[in-house]
Formats: sequence, structure tokens, C-alpha cells
Amino acid sequence: MSSSAAGVRRGTPGSPGSAAGPVWTLPASVLTPVQRSGATVDEAIAALATAAAQLTAMAAARSEAGAAEESEIFSMQAVMASDPALAAAIRDAAKGGADDVAALIAAGEAQAALLAALPDEYLAARAADVRDVASRAARILAGTTIPLPGRPIILVAEDLPPSVSAEIPREHLLGIALRAGSRTAHAVILARAAGIPCIVAARELEVDGSLDGVQAVVDGAAGTLTLAPSSADLAAAEAVKKQGAVDATRRATLRGTPCVMANGTPVHLYANIGSADGAARAVEVGAEGIGLLRSEFLLLDRETPPDEREQLRAFTKVFEALGADRPLTLRLADIGGDKEIPYLKLPHEANPFLGLRGYRLAMIKDRPDLRALFASQVAAALRAAAATRGALRIMAPMISVRAEVDDLLGLIKTVRADLSARGESAAAAYPAAIGIMIEVPAAALTAAELAAGLDFVSVGTNDLTQYAMAADRINPALVALQDAAAPGVVALLRAVVEGAKKAGVEVGVCGELAGSVSGARLLTEIGIYELSMDPAAVDEVREGLLGA
Ligand code: PEP
Ligand code: MG
Repeated sequence: MSSSAAGVRRGTPGSPGSAAGPVWTLPASVLTPVQRSGATVDEAIAALATAAAQLTAMAAARSEAGAAEESEIFSMQAVMASDPALAAAIRDAAKGGADDVAALIAAGEAQAALLAALPDEYLAARAADVRDVASRAARILAGTTIPLPGRPIILVAEDLPPSVSAEIPREHLLGIALRAGSRTAHAVILARAAGIPCIVAARELEVDGSLDGVQAVVDGAAGTLTLAPSSADLAAAEAVKKQGAVDATRRATLRGTPCVMANGTPVHLYANIGSADGAARAVEVGAEGIGLLRSEFLLLDRETPPDEREQLRAFTKVFEALGADRPLTLRLADIGGDKEIPYLKLPHEANPFLGLRGYRLAMIKDRPDLRALFASQVAAALRAAAATRGALRIMAPMISVRAEVDDLLGLIKTVRADLSARGESAAAAYPAAIGIMIEVPAAALTAAELAAGLDFVSVGTNDLTQYAMAADRINPALVALQDAAAPGVVALLRAVVEGAKKAGVEVGVCGELAGSVSGARLLTEIGIYELSMDPAAVDEVREGLLGA
């Protein structure tokens, strides 16, 4: 061990928990071979097809093992590998003189660079997925494989491609420390799902192999990697690990218990999901329904908008997982701001968060295609609900003024008339609660007027906070201002409660504030008893409120 192989390397929390073990570095050079394979460009493209087949098989295996989230990621990567644009980019790079492997990598890089430039942290993190696909194909072409650790280790790397992390046997992957990466990278999402402690963005971390074999402790909550830990460090890590497991088991036993606070007030816990498969997880943790389905998942990573039939299939899957008793709150497409969809060809804006986003897109006069997209979502949702007898709630994002609410009601009426004209009479008449998101301070202050005639409002505290505090939600320099519990935001929340009461509609929160025990307690104190959060937060919030 070198003398510098001690001390603490600081990063950002990626996945909570603590683990101790020897460091094993994943060398960047084995991920992406650079040597010529002597193959042709056609063979390079064929390698992509093989990669797609491997990823499809991995998706099927994970799905069978009940790991829906992992399965979805590999399916999405298989789609990326089959993308004709990637094959075309390989041909272009080869024309420019690159050899086959280099052309593959260049094509992957070009696509990754496009994604990485997107302002949305989640979409930008998809760049790693494309690189992973291109590297996998390059390894197939070059006939090389990744050496896997044969024992339990703490993996150290520049970054960790998701499909590589899945190849490392779970029992060998104790913890992960990455010099790059982000909380929303798929490898990190997978680590969280698998309960593997992980830190990201540890800028000082040595990834050149010099730490190999050094004992280390990764603390995923603190965001640290402690090298050559003392026996006290090791004991503390063990205690954190044991406590985490004890907490999770204890919390899981409360899943059947209604969330009634000590003062007798019932609180309804719902889940936020961003894919059809998330519904099963929501049911597993005992959520009463879905308070927010981010329907954008159907619009991402593709080149044309989904049609009604595709959306119908996806929504039906969600309703089937939920059963008739758990409501599904389907948020209409929330595009724009941090969620950019290139094929929708929206105009470039200097301030996208203050621009054409959310329901505003449905009302652009010369964009009937966008209005049709919203209409297709409503039609698909009504048809899916009618077919499954599901409890449907339709919710529009980024509402600021009453004219937008009236437009929403008009759009839904038109869709019903159209369904009826198409012979879809059950869907045309199927009941649906209609609501809006309150994410704009002006909407919070006029909630009574906006909510009149609706069934519910749901506060998006993530956006409400960014607009109330004038603090971009994705700017890491503004963390201190991104505080949904700040007095200015709480005052707006109180205004929403008052407005909703006047209008006689239900009020809930589906922003991140609802997903922490302290935030949930604050919201119940204000008089908000419908809380929707990441499924991973439901157990802890339930326990916190029951004990309150
Ligand atoms: C919010 O703004 O709080 C919200 C739930 O919506 P999103 O995070 O998807 O913008
Ligand atoms: Mg929002």
C-alpha cells in the first residue's frame, strides 16, 4: 500500500448504507478496447446487434428475477443498441477514416455527447447508457472480456456502466466509489435498488489501480470512502450496516398498518413512479395508490411520439398492477424546463424553466401535434381505466392561470366526444377525477379560483420551491436555497390548503418534501394529509408519522 492510500476520499451520497472490504479497480481500458480487430464496418454493426441481443437477454433474466427496474434499464439499452442512428453514425465515422472499433466508439460518443449536453440531470445521465452500449459492442468486436473480481470487493472506478455492474455477481459487490457519476446514473439507481452503498463524484479518488487491495469503508449516506480504516471506522461501518437492515425489516412490518397519526388523523401515503414497472414496487411497500405517474417515461429515448395504442398498453399495465382499489394519478406530459425531448422540436429558449413547459405546450396555437399528444394521453388513460375498472385521476402540470384549467376541461371533453364518435363508448363515459399541479407561486396564491370545479390539486414542491426561491432546481451552487421547508415556500403551501378548502377539493403533495419524515410531519402540521413519494421512502415516512 502506498503512503497516500489512506485517509478519506469525499464524494456525493449515491446509495445509502455502509460496507467494508478491499478495493478493486475497474480499469477504464478494459471497458473499451482500442486495438483494431481487423473486422469490417458491417461486422461492427453486427456487434451492435449482438450487444442488443445480450441486453435483451439480461432484461428478461432480471424481469424473471423480479428486478423490474434493472430489467427496464437493459431493455432501454437494447433499444439504444438497435437504433439505426447509431449504425449510421458508425458508417459516418468509418468514412472519416476511423477503424471499426474506433468508429463504434466515436458513434457512441457522438450520441452520448448529445445527451450529456441536455440540461436535465436525468437525461444527461443517459449518456453513460449509450457509452455502455457502444463499449459492449466494441468488446464483442475485439473479442475481449472484462475481468471480474472473484471475491467480495469495494469497486472503485471512473464510472460504472450499468450493464457491467449487473455482470458482477451481487455477492461480490460490497460497495461502489466512483470518481465521476451522478445520483441519477443508472448504475447508481441500480445500486440503490440492490441496497449496495455507493458514492459518486469523488473527485480525489485514484482510479489508476494504485488502491487495489487497500482495505476501505464506503459510507453511502455520508458520501465518503475511508481508506485503511481504523478498527473504530470498521466497527462504525458495521453498526451502520446492521442498523440499516434492522430499520428496513422493522419498517416493512408496518406495511399493512393504516397510517393514522397519534392524534387520530389518517394520512394517505401514495407513490410517485416513472415507469409502468414502478407500480408493482408501490404496491409492495403498501402505497395506497399512485399520486404521480410521470408519463414522460413514454416519451423519452425515442425518435417519434408514442401513439395512443402504445400508451394504452403502458397505462393498462399500471392499472393491472394496482388493481381497482388503488387510484392512478396520471400526470399529463411535463416536457420543457429540465425535460427536453429533441424530436418535439420545441423552440430554443433562453430560460426554459420560465418557458414553454408542462400544460402550456398543449395550448400553443400553431402546434396541433402537441395538443394531439396531450389528447392521446387522455384518450389512452380513459381507455385503460375503462378496460381495467381502474380509478383514474388526470392531472395537468405547470398550471398558472384559470384559462389553462378551462382549456384542460375543454380538452378532456373533446377527447370524450372523440372516443364516443370512435365507438369507444365505455371509455368516453368512464369517470376520472381531474386535477392540477400547483407548482407556480401565482397558482398557489389563487388556488381557490383555479381549483373550482376540479376534484383535487397536488403541490409539486420541487418546482414550487425553485420558483418561489428563484433558485434553479438543478444548480448545485444553490443547494441552500432549494429548501422546500423555507418559510416562503411554507407560506405558499398554507395558501394552497386554504384555497383548496374554499374550493372544496382535496389537496396533496407529490414533491420531494413529502418523501422525508421531517417534510411529511411539516405537511401534516399544515393540514396536508395526502403525501406521494418515491416508493423507497414510503416505509420510513409511514413509521415516522405513526410515531409522531
Ligand atoms: C414537482 O415539481 O415537485 C414535481 C413533483 O414534479 P417534477 O419533479 O416531475 O417536476
Ligand atoms: Mg414539477
